[in-house]
Amino acid sequence: VKYPAIIGHEISGEIVETGPGLSSFRKGERIAVGADVPCGRCDWCLGGMGNCCDTNLAMGYQFAGGYAEYCLIEPTVVRFGPVARIPDGVDMEHAALAEPLACCINGLERAGLTGGESVAVLGAGPIGIMLVKLAKALGSAWTLLADTDPDRLLQSRFAGADACIPCGQPDVFVSEVLDATRGRGVDVILTACPAVEAQELALRIVAKRGRVNLFGGLPASARDIRFPSNLLHYREASVTGSHGSTPVQHARALELIASRRVDLSGMVTHRFPLDKIHDAFAAVKARLGLKVAVRP
Ligand SMILES: [Zn+2]
Repeated sequence: VKYPAIIGHEISGEIVETGPGLSSFRKGERIAVGADVPCGRCDWCLGGMGNCCDTNLAMGYQFAGGYAEYCLIEPTVVRFGPVARIPDGVDMEHAALAEPLACCINGLERAGLTGGESVAVLGAGPIGIMLVKLAKALGSAWTLLADTDPDRLLQSRFAGADACIPCGQPDVFVSEVLDATRGRGVDVILTACPAVEAQELALRIVAKRGRVNLFGGLPASARDIRFPSNLLHYREASVTGSHGSTPVQHARALELIASRRVDLSGMVTHRFPLDKIHDAFAAVKARLGLKVAVRP
C-alpha cells in the first residue's frame, strides 16, 4: 500500500450512483466487493485464475478500499472484479465476509477436499473458524480445530469442529491427533496462522495421500520451515499453497452464505463507526473477539 490510501478490502454496500453506460448494476442495489481484482489480460486472468494475476490488483491497494462513506468501484473492478449482488435476507456484515470465505473456498479447492475426508485447521482465528464451517458444509467427515492459545480455542467452539485440540506442545498434539484418527492422520490440513511451527506441525499429522495447504502467509522475517521430506515421500502426501480468491469463488461464497449452508452468525463480535476506526484497529490488535466491523 502506498499512502495516502483508503484501505479495507472486505466490503459490502449499497449503490448510490452508477457511471454512464453501466447496465449490469443499478442504483439501490446492494453489492459485496471482494479483494483480488483480475487485470483481465494476463495468462492467469484469461485462464480464470485472477488471484494469480501478474499485476496483482486489489481493493484497498491500487483501488480505494472500503473504509469510507463512499467507495468508487472503478471500471476494471466492475468489469473483471469480484462484485456480486447481495441476495435478499443476507446481512451487510455477512455479505462483507464473502471475501474471506472466498479465500477459504480457494484453500479447500487447492487442497482438493472431497466429501468424507477429515480436515484439520491450525489456527482458531476468524479464518480458521470459517474454514471449519466451510469444510463441514462441503461434506468433510471429521473436522479438527487447533490453536496454541486454549482461550482462543474455547472461544471458537461455535465453529462446530468435531474436535478442538490445543497444539502448544507439538509432540502431545501429534499423538492426540493420531489417537483421534486411529493412527491414520488427517486427509486435509490447512494452516490458518502466520507461524512456521504450524506449517511444520501440519506435515507431521498428514495422512497417506493427504494434502497440506499453506493458507496463511508468513512474515518476511520468518525462518524457513524444516521437515523430513520422507514424511511426504512415504505417505505420498503433497503441499499446496493458496492466495486470495477469484470472482467466481467470491460469488460462490455469497451463495453459501445466502443458503445458510455456511452460517456466519457470531463471526462479527465488535462494531465501530468510521470516526472510531482507530478503536477498531486497536480491538483487532488486542485480539478482542473475532471480526470487527466498521460501519460508516
Ligand atoms: Zn491478470
